[in-house]
Amino acid sequence: MNSKNKVLISGASIAGPTLGFWLAKYGFEVTIVERSQSLRLGGQNLDIRGAGRAIVRMMGIEKEILAANTGEIGLQFINCDNEVEAEFPAEGSGSFTSEAEILRGDLVNILYEHTKNDVHYVFGKYITAIHQGPDKVEVTFSDNESGSFHLLIAADGVRSATRKLIFGDEPELKFLGLYNAWYTIPRLESDTQWARWYTAPGSRVMLLRPDNHGTIRASFSFLSDDKGYLSQSDREQKKVLKEKLSGAGWEAERLMKEIDNNSEVYFDGISQVKAPRWFDGRAGMIGDAAYCPTPLTGMGTTLAMVGAYLLAGELSRHDHHEDAFAAYEKRMRPFVEKVQKLPPGVPWLAHPKSKLGVTVVNKAAALLASRPVKMVSKLLRSKEKEVTKDDIELPVFE
Ligand SMILES: Cc1cc2nc3c(=O)[nH]c(=O)nc-3n(C[C@H](O)[C@H](O)[C@H](O)COP(=O)(O)OP(=O)(O)OC[C@H]3O[C@@H](n4cnc5c(N)ncnc54)[C@H](O)[C@@H]3O)c2cc1C
Repeated sequence: MNSKNKVLISGASIAGPTLGFWLAKYGFEVTIVERSQSLRLGGQNLDIRGAGRAIVRMMGIEKEILAANTGEIGLQFINCDNEVEAEFPAEGSGSFTSEAEILRGDLVNILYEHTKNDVHYVFGKYITAIHQGPDKVEVTFSDNESGSFHLLIAADGVRSATRKLIFGDEPELKFLGLYNAWYTIPRLESDTQWARWYTAPGSRVMLLRPDNHGTIRASFSFLSDDKGYLSQSDREQKKVLKEKLSGAGWEAERLMKEIDNNSEVYFDGISQVKAPRWFDGRAGMIGDAAYCPTPLTGMGTTLAMVGAYLLAGELSRHDHHEDAFAAYEKRMRPFVEKVQKLPPGVPWLAHPKSKLGVTVVNKAAALLASRPVKMVSKLLRSKEKEVTKDDIELPVFE
């Protein structure tokens, strides 16, 4: 495409700025519009794996990412007596704690710092209407201003409103029957450098993870088919969270108390986005907006970065946007389908209902953490690596 083309991206998190980075490198004129008044820096640890790691290396930000490591030394399963049932140190590719483990907010900041001079950022604004013509997309913003762009890409997350403007109800949001709340709490002396996982009866899981900011990143998840929680106000959602935490044992009292002190509790129903198309005319979508795999896969960030890299590359390589979109989709869709495939029993197995179920989960974790099983799985993993090699082949576009 003509590199002077103007591209509007909606969403300044991971997918949007990564796409902006590469498009600006290829000479495109990029604007990113973000609904929040400033960067949203909340959230827990994100992993950058496989091809994602190769991309951050090419972007020249790998060292910064590794330097921002959260300091987590692995994962422990804790029982109701606060004893360690199983321990998985941070080592090797299959570990829960990856080498490139970074807080979401730190990664968002790094991406912003590396794009802010080449990409035009607009905060506190969002798209309210789009009209596609043969050569341009006309866009109206929330402040009633309008703009004209050659391409529009939605990168505004799993609940993307821009996606709805482009595709209506066509993409499916597949709810997995699991809710998750993430928030940051003060660190106590009893906290350690381990991520600590506690399973409570009633299909509830608490996870406390250390960070490199002197605080603790808390996560609380529970199974429920009730879809109504998402339309509730923040206050109502906090009430639900406290009710669900009540009687769960371990650090439940602490998490309940901190919910009231916290202005940024990120609460969502865990859902996958399944879309038969990612593009319509001159508009399209990437990242969680297009193919959210859920945090259960640990691959949302990698997928967002790979998608951004490939889309920018194909746009730089093709004269017509339709050809670029088609070439991108051909590479990306099989990878997305592979990542979205959840292992059988996820998320139910890790969220048992009964006390007996909790004991089974902890004993199974202990077995997996035991030396003989670890050695066998290490062997299997190295064999698997030989076969699959890398997640997706990344072409070099220059
Ligand atoms: C505040 C927050 C906390 C998160 N915490 C975690 C976590 O702890 N663990 C985890 O695995 N994943 C978390 N995620 C999701 C994770 O960032 C993504 O799964 C992944 O990195 C892919 O990123 P993305 O850029 O596609 O989407 P997202 O990271 O979801 O980013 C979407 C961006 O679009 C903005 N936006 C939303 N609507 C509009 C609109 N209408 N117009 C313009 N901008 C809009 C949002 O403010 C956000 O900046 C979190 C996301 C957010 C926004």
